[in-house]
Amino acid sequence: MPEEGIELLRHEDILSFDEIAGFTEAAVKHGVNKVRITGGEPLVRKGIVTLVKMIAGIDGIADLSMTTNGVLLKDFADDLKTAGLHRVNISLDTADPEKFAYITRGGNVNDVFAGITAAKKAGLVPVKINCVIIKSKDEEDARQIAEFCLLNKLEIRYIHQMDLVNGHFSTVEGGTGGNCTKCNRLRLTANGKLKPCLFNDLAFDIRKLGYEDAIARAVEFKPECGSINVTGKFYNIGG
Ligand code: SF4
Repeated sequence: MPEEGIELLRHEDILSFDEIAGFTEAAVKHGVNKVRITGGEPLVRKGIVTLVKMIAGIDGIADLSMTTNGVLLKDFADDLKTAGLHRVNISLDTADPEKFAYITRGGNVNDVFAGITAAKKAGLVPVKINCVIIKSKDEEDARQIAEFCLLNKLEIRYIHQMDLVNGHFSTVEGGTGGNCTKCNRLRLTANGKLKPCLFNDLAFDIRKLGYEDAIARAVEFKPECGSINVTGKFYNIGG
């Protein structure tokens, strides 16, 4: 999140749970069987467990996961599991308490560790750690995270820091994201824009077009690979 804060969406622009679940149901009818709830930070959305339950109740979803910063996970892990969430990815770029506090503007890395323990205990497995690296996984922070993952039997995925201005992006090491030739993902933003690619300005409004039409267009216009996204920022499109 940028230091100057983020542009808040107007309440009426944010999709309701019924809209998100309705859209997901339509997407599943069109062959989607993996759903990931992401953010921003999904655990700060009021009623998130209810949303998970609504999505988990849709027939045909083989994999329902959430990407979270893990800070609130300790309090939510059991309820999320009961609601039907399968697994979590936790973003963790450093295990150093001071650096973590600096990066997250006051966060406590121990909350994330507690969240990881709670997720494992609740059975939200496999727990995967998303670690952003600047150039290589040999960087000090990444090495510490890798050690932590090894010790705690967690999977790690290295995500190269992306350059939104110049449109630089690369594959996720240890994961499937970031590979344009194989990418079949669609991203629904909190305000109802369906994006066929994070690195592209194309977006189809599910309220204006209707779920079916938006899905059809997003699939039809999915770019061969990303270019540059100038209208969205990663924190609000869920990157
Ligand atoms: S097509 Fe877009 S979203 Fe998919 S991997 Fe490429 S840049 Fe990322």
